[in-house]
This record gives sequence, C-alpha cells and structure tokens, in this order.
Amino acid sequence: MRVARPGEPGYDAATAVFSLAAIPEPAAAAVVRTVEEVRQAIRFARREGLPVRVHTTGHSAPAARPMREALLLRTEMTGTVEIDSDRRVARVPAGTRWGAVVKAAAEHGLSVAHGSSPTVGVVGYLLGGGLSFYGRHVGLAANSVRAVELVTADGELRRADADLLWALRGGGGGFGVVTAVEVGLFPVAQVVTGAACWPARHAPELLRAWRAWTLDAPDEATTTVRILNLPDLPDVPPMLSAGPVLCVDGAVLAGTDDDVPTALAQADDLLGPLRDIAEPVLDTWQTTAPAGLLDTHMDPSDPVEVIGDHLLLDELGDAGIEALLKVIGAGSGSPLIAAGLRQLGGAYGRPDPSGGALNALNARYAYSGGGVPGLSGTREQIIGRLPVVRAALAPWDTGRTAPTFVERFDQPQGHLDAATVTAVDAVRARVDPDGLFRDDIMPGATHRTASS
Ligand SMILES: Cc1cc2nc3c(=O)[nH]c(=O)nc-3n(C[C@H](O)[C@H](O)[C@H](O)COP(=O)(O)OP(=O)(O)OC[C@H]3O[C@@H](n4cnc5c(N)ncnc54)[C@H](O)[C@@H]3O)c2cc1C
Repeated sequence: MRVARPGEPGYDAATAVFSLAAIPEPAAAAVVRTVEEVRQAIRFARREGLPVRVHTTGHSAPAARPMREALLLRTEMTGTVEIDSDRRVARVPAGTRWGAVVKAAAEHGLSVAHGSSPTVGVVGYLLGGGLSFYGRHVGLAANSVRAVELVTADGELRRADADLLWALRGGGGGFGVVTAVEVGLFPVAQVVTGAACWPARHAPELLRAWRAWTLDAPDEATTTVRILNLPDLPDVPPMLSAGPVLCVDGAVLAGTDDDVPTALAQADDLLGPLRDIAEPVLDTWQTTAPAGLLDTHMDPSDPVEVIGDHLLLDELGDAGIEALLKVIGAGSGSPLIAAGLRQLGGAYGRPDPSGGALNALNARYAYSGGGVPGLSGTREQIIGRLPVVRAALAPWDTGRTAPTFVERFDQPQGHLDAATVTAVDAVRARVDPDGLFRDDIMPGATHRTASS
C-alpha cells in the first residue's frame, strides 16, 4: 500500500471518481486491498493528523463533504463474491460493484436489491439505504444487510455487533472502513423489465396515467418515469435523441417460473393503457433473466459530470404532475438530461423492525433530475434550473431525502429524525471517540461538528 500525495504515482487512481461534478483533492490518498493495508493507512492518518475519508467508486462524490486536509482511501478489497445459497446470503468484499453480485447470485436462481447500474459500488449503496427496482417488494436495500466487517478508528477489524449494524445501515457514515458485507438474497426466476418511450408531447396524459396506476400497483412492480433530453451521440438510439421523450422503465419480478404469467399481466396493467395513449417510439419491455435488469435504466457506463438535485415527495395528484411538467416537460426549455420520479410505496414505506437507522422511506416518489454540461445545456442553465424545479415541487416536498440519491453536499438533505441522530451518534462515539471519520458523515446525520 502506498499513500500518495498530489502529483505522486497512485494519487489519481485513488482519487478517481465516477461522478465528475466534484473531483476530490485530499492531502493524501491510497488504494487499500487488505485489512492490514487499512490499518497502515489509519496509522498514517493519525501520524499526520489527517481525518480519514472512504470511497469505492465515487458515484456519490459530489454528495461528499469537500475534502482537502484528509486521507482518502479507495477500498478495493481482494477476494470474490461468495454465495451461500442455503442461507441466501452473499459475502461481498468492499470495492465490488453490483454487476458482480448480480452475476454470482443468478447462478443460484437468486437476486439481490441492487441498484440500476452494474458499476455502482455495493458498500456505499447499501450504507446509504439503496433503492432498487425490487424495492417495493423487498424494501430499502440496507434492510437486507446481514453483517458488516469494518476496521474502526482503533485499527481493529470488527464484525459489527447489533448496535453498530443498526447504525451502519442508513446512519449516515463515519463509523470506519468497511471491508466486507453480507447481504441477503431472494429468489427471482425472471423479470419483466424494459423501457418504453414516447415523444414528450404525450407526457401529460402518460404521466397522469402512470400516477393513477401507482396508487394501487402491486408490490412486485417498481418503476420510474423520466423526461429524457438525450444528445445525438453514437450510443443513443436516434429515436431518443430526436427530441425530448418520456420513458417509463422498471421491473416486475417473478419469484418462480410459475409467477411469470402474473408478472406479465401486472406489467400489462401498467403498459397497456400507456400504449393506448400513443405508440411508443421505443419499447424494450420483455421477460428476461435477472441480469437483464442492469440494462433497463440506460445508465451511463463511463464517468460523467452530472449536476442534479433530489427530493422525496408526497402524493402529487394531477396538480403536482402538471407543476412538474411545466419545469421539465416539452416546451419547458429544461436543460436536464434526465428528470423524473421513482415510484416508492410498497415495502419501501414499511419500516423493517430488524432493519437499520434508515429502514423505510415515508414518501410516495423520489424526484431526481440532472444535466450534463455541454450535452443537455450549459452549466449555468443546468444550475439555474435546479431551484426552479425545487420551487415548482415545494408543495409536495417532504423535506427529507434518500441518501443515495443526494446529488450535492450543499443541497438541503436529511433522512433521520433527531432522536435517531442522537442514537447513531452514541454508536459513533463508541467506535470513533476522537472523530477520525467525522468528515465522512452526511449532513443532518450527526450532532457533532465536522473538522473541515
Ligand atoms: C449511474 C448511477 C446509477 C445509480 N443508481 C442508483 C440506484 O438505482 N439506486 C440507488 O439507491 N442509488 C443509485 N445511485 C447512487 C449510488 O447508489 C450512490 O452514489 C452510492 O453512494 C454509490 O456507492 P459507491 O460506494 O459506489 O459510491 P462512493 O461515492 O464511492 O461512496 C459513497 C459513500 O459511501 C461510503 N463508502 C463507500 N465505500 C465505503 C467503505 N468501504 N467503507 C465505508 N464507507 C464507504 C462513503 O461515505 C462514501 O462517501 C446511482 C448512481 C449512479 C452514478
């Protein structure tokens, strides 16, 4: 393990991030691959008087507290994903991306509450709650975490006890360097999944119909609806770059092969009425093996600069839909490359008594929207649109956020009530009494003050 200073070999590899809207510039950085390397790094940080920060892929880099006087560790722990099919648990070394877990679990007819993109890191996603396309069926992904191994500020490798495991799951970070997690799996034989897209001029009718369907949709189905303003690029299908489109994507899961006809009928309950409104310009909904779900959301596969925002929303009603479309829909001049709603409810809304500090989302929809400077608008146009959308949605804003969806550190955010923050802080005080990891805590998730 080599700790690198800016300009030294290894610094760029340790600080590289997927979300290019905030590139970290810590005083020192290292890639850690073993528990002993994590310990060495912690000793280095203590000698130098630097707080320790941790990341895996940097998918959340802009949501992290800006760092200068810090040692940043990228976890790339050695080892592979191990599946215990009897217990339906995967053991996952920190550094692993979801694509590897989905692939390993599928060999056993199992899947996991993974994110939409194969490149998202397992650890950051799980610690931040994690919203999957199975979420209305299984709840927040953090609830499925069975065990966490981490190196704490004293250099000890611990398997989290009950209190620490509770705090780690959605508590807002700052407990140590996670080296491995065990996450629960569940049977998925097939998924009905895909994306259907229409010219955005049909958005008012389509979005109203989608919202009406969400009111009593089955828990097996989890979907998103987005307005996409995609540029004319080689990997963008031409029918999607011809003008703004509204896309409905997501999944309906079939636990067994016998459940496939029901899943198809459930998907048809959503898509049939939408297809009757207008013919989609693209419609990829089909029945696939679980790994097919990783392609559904059309996420970027390479690092990209997205400037975005996120809110958790109450039921919008037709008035809310209209307000949203006024600022992101056809003719709105929106410079956002993608903006829309993820369907919550179902198991997302049911607190899991054996879950962690964040074990449910009390909201109907997660709004997220963002632009890519130079592709969907200028930086100024994109930055200028974010408060416009916020203002339009203010009547439905719960004031809370889902940690993994937060786009920027300085935007309003918070996901825990004051009593939970106090309880989480008590756990932090036990495992990190002098606050070595305090700058890794999300805003609103501690009563402590940061060092920088
Ligand atoms: C293309 C794309 C698709 C996405 N899809 C979804 C989705 O479907 N659902 C969803 O909920 N989110 C989604 N996200 C958001 C994603 O879940 C978050 O960005 C999440 O934080 C990523 O985890 P990471 O470890 O890869 O990120 P990082 O930015 O590397 O880490 C985020 C935070 O996690 C903590 N952390 C990471 N590794 C460790 C470790 N080893 N020890 C201790 N703490 C650690 C740190 O606090 C760090 O700041 C998506 C993001 C992108 C860019």
